[in-house]
Amino acid sequence: MMNFQYYMPTQIYFGAFCIKENQHLLKNYGERVLIVTGRSSSKKNGSLDDILQSLQDQGIESLIFDEVEENPSLETLEKAAQMGKDFQAQFVIGVGGGSPVDAAKGIGVLVQNPTCTVHDLFQQGDLQSLPIVAVVTTSGTGTETTPYAIFTDHNLQTKVNFQPKIFPHVAFLDPRYFETMPDQVAIDTAVDALSHLVEGYLTVKANVLSDLWAEQGMALWKDCISALQSKKWTLEQREKMILASTIGGMVIAQTGTSLPHGMGYAFTYFKDITHGKANGLLMKEYIKMHPNKEKTRRILDILGMETEETLGNFLAEILGEPIILTKEEIQQYTEGMVSNAAKLKNHPGLVTAEDIEKIYGSSCKTIE
Ligand code: NAP
Ligand code: FE
Repeated sequence: MMNFQYYMPTQIYFGAFCIKENQHLLKNYGERVLIVTGRSSSKKNGSLDDILQSLQDQGIESLIFDEVEENPSLETLEKAAQMGKDFQAQFVIGVGGGSPVDAAKGIGVLVQNPTCTVHDLFQQGDLQSLPIVAVVTTSGTGTETTPYAIFTDHNLQTKVNFQPKIFPHVAFLDPRYFETMPDQVAIDTAVDALSHLVEGYLTVKANVLSDLWAEQGMALWKDCISALQSKKWTLEQREKMILASTIGGMVIAQTGTSLPHGMGYAFTYFKDITHGKANGLLMKEYIKMHPNKEKTRRILDILGMETEETLGNFLAEILGEPIILTKEEIQQYTEGMVSNAAKLKNHPGLVTAEDIEKIYGSSCKTIE
C-alpha cells in the first residue's frame, strides 16, 4: 500500500543572467534585505555584484553580512541575526554554497522570531522564517530545494540539523557562478550531490516520485564522471551537475538522508574533512551493507559502475587522501552515531553499533 507526501515549493530559475531577468520577483519580499554570504567567493564569481545590481534596480535597500564560514556555527547565526534585526530586514538572500544558504535560513528564523535563541532552532519545529532567496554557487548540497539547514554546535561537538522546515521561496541557478569553483570544491560538492541521490533512493521514505528524480539525477551525474576525473568541465557538464545537485535536494526534501550523512558529521567536526568527502568515503560500505540489492544494483547500473568496489575506487581516486582513524576514534564516532535516532530510522532494518563500527573501520585506514 502506498502512503507518501510530496512537497517542494521553491521556484527555480536556471540559466545565465537569471537574476537580472527575473529581478522583479525580489520586490515581492520587501524593501529591506539582509544578504548573507561567505568571505570571498561571491565577490569573485560575480554573484554578489549581480544581486546587488538587481536590488538597486528594484529600489531595495540591502546590508551585507559576509562572514559565513564553512559548516556555519551558532555564533555566526547570532551575530548575523542581530544585524538583520537592527536593520529591520524583511527578507534574507543567501549567496554562495550550502554554508551561506543554510545560514540564511537560520538567520531568517531568528529575525522573524526576535525572542528566539539559537538553541530554540533545535527545539521548535513550527518556527517560521522571513522569506529566503537562494543564489547558489556550488553544485552539491541542494539546499535551495530542501527545508533543512545544518549548523556546527561546538558544545555538542557535532553538526545538527535545525528543526524548522524552511524552503527558500526562490532559487537562482546561474551556471556562470560555478566556473570559479576550485577543482576540489567541485569534486567534493559533486560527491555530496551523489550521496543525496543515493541515500534518498535507499531510505525508508523513498517513494515513487522521489525515486524518479533520484534516477534522473544519477543519470545526469554519470555524464559528469569524465569531468570529475579530468577536472575539465564542459558547459553542458556544469549544467548537468547543477541540476543533479538541485534534484538531489528535491529527493532528500522528501526522504531525508541516511547513514553516510549521519556518520560523516564526525569526520567533518573532528577531522576537518569537507562534508562531501566525508559522505563519499562512507558510500561504498553503506551500499554494500544495504539490504535492498535490487536498488543498489540499479544505482551501480545507472552510474555505469560494475560493482561497489568500482564505485568505491573511483570515489577514493577523486576524493584524494584517505582518512586515518584510531580504534578509539572509531568507537567514539560510533557512540555518537548510535544516538542519532533521526538518521538511523531512515535505514530499512535495524542498525547495530557493530554495523556502524564496521562501516567506519572499512571506510578508513585504521591505526593503533
Ligand atoms: P560551502 O561550505 O558553502 O563552501 C565551501 C568553500 O567553497 C568555501 O571556501 C567557499 O568560499 C567556496 N566557494 C563556494 N562557491 C564557490 C565558487 N562558485 N567559486 C569558488 N569558491 C566557492 O560548501 P558546500 O559544500 O556548498 O556547503 C556545505 C554545507 O552545506 C555544510 O555545512 C553541509 O552540512 C551543508 N549541507 C546542507 C544541506 C541542506 O539540505 N541544507 C545538504 C547538504 C549539506 P567562501 O566562503 O568565500 O564563499
Ligand atoms: Fe549533504
